Amino acid sequence: MKYVDEFRDPDKARSLLRAIEGLVADIEICRRRPLQIMEVCGGHTHSIFKYGLESLLPEAIEFVHGPGCPVCVLPVGRVDDGLVLAEHPSVIFTTFGDAMRVPGSKKSLLQAKADGADVRMVYSPLDALGIAKANPGKEVVFFALGFETTIPSTAMTVLQAEREHVANFSVFCNHITIIPTIKAILDSPELTLDGFLGPGHVSMVIGTAPYQFICRHYRKPLVVAGFEPLDILQSIWMLLRQLAEGRCEVENQYRRVVADAGNDPALRAVQEVFELREFFEWRGLGSIDHSGVCIRDAYAAFDAERRFSVPNLKIADPKSCQCGEVLKGVIKPRQCKVFGRACTPETPLGALMVSSEGACAAYYNYAGVQLGKVRRSRAAPDRGRARGMP
Ligand code: SF4
Repeated sequence: MKYVDEFRDPDKARSLLRAIEGLVADIEICRRRPLQIMEVCGGHTHSIFKYGLESLLPEAIEFVHGPGCPVCVLPVGRVDDGLVLAEHPSVIFTTFGDAMRVPGSKKSLLQAKADGADVRMVYSPLDALGIAKANPGKEVVFFALGFETTIPSTAMTVLQAEREHVANFSVFCNHITIIPTIKAILDSPELTLDGFLGPGHVSMVIGTAPYQFICRHYRKPLVVAGFEPLDILQSIWMLLRQLAEGRCEVENQYRRVVADAGNDPALRAVQEVFELREFFEWRGLGSIDHSGVCIRDAYAAFDAERRFSVPNLKIADPKSCQCGEVLKGVIKPRQCKVFGRACTPETPLGALMVSSEGACAAYYNYAGVQLGKVRRSRAAPDRGRARGMP
């Protein structure tokens, strides 16, 4: 297939759904309870709801939304640390758009900008480096966020800054890694998972080998999945086929993008610039060992945490927020007490309602308060028609 509409073909979707229904009948777990499938990446959560896949699939399949939205898992204290940097009089603070509206304990970066801080939205760390070169009298700090998907671009920008002797550029590093996080979820007694849809973009960098421990030690299958509706349906079919046949393997549905060996130049750049932190604090998941990276001593000149005094604040989420429980997959977004009332995309209380990958934003935008209706429509005669598919 070459064109995006081929990945949304309704006939192929219907035949995959029929195949999935057939497999459900063969899986013993489904006779006792719904299968719990975690989609690790927030991009998958959005595709599942945007295209109405949840309502098309058999009720024996339940999605558990994973923590793969890097903006969502950033704790309030790190947002406040970023605000301290952003409000420094000599600083131009640069950030991806998603992070602009994430609430800190008192305000967001967008509100800090309205109050006079020089906060600028960028599309890549190279944009931030360009701003630094254009403003030699200012300190330009890049708010670095994201999993292995975005770590290479930050690493390569630091390497370029060093090559070009740009002395007024630094990185406030909040990059995180996916493997220790999946391990923390698998070790959690609160969750019973039967399989994973593996993150497509992260896997493009790290490849498929790092997931092998999930099959070997935890006996759970994982299928690296793409983001179009047929990608997701085919990945679920592959997962179910493993379960029906008693297999437990890492499979790669997203071969058109993900090489099993990953991306070697990207991994080498990351290895050159970053090293693992002993631990990193996650919203809702607490401190997870070796789950974040920091800048190596050799590149300390580009580390904002060493160039400035960052308070390293520890701040609890507001009492009414249940972001942590949603991130752990313990409750669904609509079960949060403030979902759709005090917390909406216009007035977010938590990052999950802001980010383009946040589970609460996905529910609000695509399922929202209509979710009960969507669920009832599972039995409707036109259930083969998914939203957004022709
Ligand atoms: S509805 Fe708002 S407060 Fe509740 S979990 Fe979602 S983002 Fe957090």
